[in-house]
Amino acid sequence: MYKKLFIPGPVPVHPDILAAMATPMIGHRMKEYAELHGRITSGLKKVLFTQGKVFLATSSAFGVMEGAIRNLVGTRCANFCNGAFSDKWHDVTLRCGKQADAFRFEWGRPVTPEAVEQALSTGKYDSMTMIHNETSTGVMSPLPEIAAVMRKFPDVMFIVDTVSSMSALKVPVDELGIDSCIFGVQKAFALPPGLTVFTASEKALRRAAGMEGRGYYFDFTEFAANDAKDNTPSTPCISLIYAMDRQLERMFAEGLEARWARHRDLADFVRGWVTSRGFELFPEPGSCSLTLTCARNSRGIDLAALKKRLGEVGFAFDDGYGKIKGQTFRIAHMGDMIRADLDELFAAMIAIMPELA
Ligand SMILES: *Cc1c(COP(=O)(O)O)cnc(C)c1O
Repeated sequence: MYKKLFIPGPVPVHPDILAAMATPMIGHRMKEYAELHGRITSGLKKVLFTQGKVFLATSSAFGVMEGAIRNLVGTRCANFCNGAFSDKWHDVTLRCGKQADAFRFEWGRPVTPEAVEQALSTGKYDSMTMIHNETSTGVMSPLPEIAAVMRKFPDVMFIVDTVSSMSALKVPVDELGIDSCIFGVQKAFALPPGLTVFTASEKALRRAAGMEGRGYYFDFTEFAANDAKDNTPSTPCISLIYAMDRQLERMFAEGLEARWARHRDLADFVRGWVTSRGFELFPEPGSCSLTLTCARNSRGIDLAALKKRLGEVGFAFDDGYGKIKGQTFRIAHMGDMIRADLDELFAAMIAIMPELA
């Protein structure tokens, strides 16, 4: 039996999208592919509010997160870390042989514009990384306020992971001045894993062109050269690109504004459900994610038993990530989920633990 996923990624994929993946194969140097690629990158530009370049990479998010480091970090990188994924990005930066410092926030706290300003004012950095929505802690950092600070540092590359947020709310890439915005599609986009979308500003492409050791597979300048022909440097995951084509159609049919509103509604609903049952929200007030709710196990329920029993009745439930595993639980409400999906999960939780009613 397949479990219905309430974990923060991968998330459930709509049957129409799975069906689209069974479309017969085409060659990526055929004109059919260029048409598909062009249609998708123009659709993505609307979702990302960018007139710049949008690229498709065949890898999970960390492929391009590493690629961005190799292409864009010259002298030294400031990695802002407020959870497991941002910590890992710092580690990846060092593993790429780059000079970098981690600026750490207690888990549950957002990255703040003040900390960004303080770090970059030292003049030591030519690049920074941050995660918009830290999936490990359910914290969403204030991107518009941070972007306002970044305008004071035009020579610093602004590299942002939006893996678990892009499309759930408005993230206008150009207006925010993001140099490289990166997201894997298995979370907020609700596609199967294996495809990562990223942007590169003109400034980012100039930086990349002069960068040594940027490798081949994630070389931003290779992506730009191929983009001119609506293509990719190497063979892409065409089946997933069919899936993206279908998903963009579905997103525009729903309407972006309606999609954002649905996520606000789901977030309010889930936060209300957990807090009314005596669980505290893990994030600092005002920094709760719109796409997943991370709660403290304030009532000391047996989370491992709950996870196991939910699994037996067909639900995949998450009992925390990294160092807060067991002390927290996370409920995803991203992608194409609706209220009825969460009603189903909550009913199952109550059936297992009647004290949650
Ligand atoms: C899941 C996740 C990642 C890791 O992505 P992979 O696709 O597994 O490489 C990175 N950043 C965030 C915010 C995530 O939620």
